[in-house]
Amino acid sequence: MAQQKLYQVEGVVLGRRNYGEADRVIILLTAGGRLALLAKGIRKPHSRKAGHLELFSRSKVLISRVTNFWDIISQAEVLTTRPGIQADFQRGTYARYVGELALRFFEQEANETLYTLVDSTLTLLENAEKPERVVCWYEQHLLALAGFRPEWRHCVGFREGQPCQEELHPRPGDQRPYGSAPEQGGALCPDCLAAGQPSGLVSRLSPSALSWLQAFQEREYSQLAEFDFPSKTATELRRVMKRYISYHLEWQPRTLRALNMHCFSILRSSPGE
Ligand SMILES: [Zn+2]
Repeated sequence: MAQQKLYQVEGVVLGRRNYGEADRVIILLTAGGRLALLAKGIRKPHSRKAGHLELFSRSKVLISRVTNFWDIISQAEVLTTRPGIQADFQRGTYARYVGELALRFFEQEANETLYTLVDSTLTLLENAEKPERVVCWYEQHLLALAGFRPEWRHCVGFREGQPCQEELHPRPGDQRPYGSAPEQGGALCPDCLAAGQPSGLVSRLSPSALSWLQAFQEREYSQLAEFDFPSKTATELRRVMKRYISYHLEWQPRTLRALNMHCFSILRSSPGE
């Protein structure tokens, strides 16, 4: 008989997929890394584990380590449920994106800060008035943690062969746009943007969008919650950060495509069109 060892961990359920007739593989992010675990019988009608391993919930699980097989969840106890994320398409899509980014940027390594960031972001997504602002804040902190911290405070452009490095203080009344340059890893001052970068990846960045990027990077979410976050800025940041992240991961997040399509279908079906 295979030798079994029991251990207990706490983690956030970031993925699930069906396995066999009644089982499910659960992807659990913990402070000690990512685990793929088998929950046997969880799809049976009266499974005692089912309600304790919902997507995005934080749960405590007792695991049997089985030699040459999946680690198996013996018991599960939910610590935090997130019904608001489950019930809302937009929040649910953003939560999937949060999980997808964490799993893409980080492989198996233990990272307590990542675990805390993902868990607290999901709690914010559950409750925040503007979930799109939560996701923008998360992206900046995740990129920093993954070693891809964008430089939004100083210009990353070059002029006449010299690094510009101008300190950037965007103001609402600024007449000229700034830029986002994924290849150079940050923002361009209006002069460097106008001077023309050789890369087609550069995006224009409004003063408002740049000052929000600086704030997301430099502040805690609670310090930003009271400020108005215009939907125009949210849309602009979605576009800029999608390009930035796609460049550094060489990958397009699947999850936000679903959200874009959903928004597009709402726009198309809105009254008066
Ligand atoms: Zn510059």
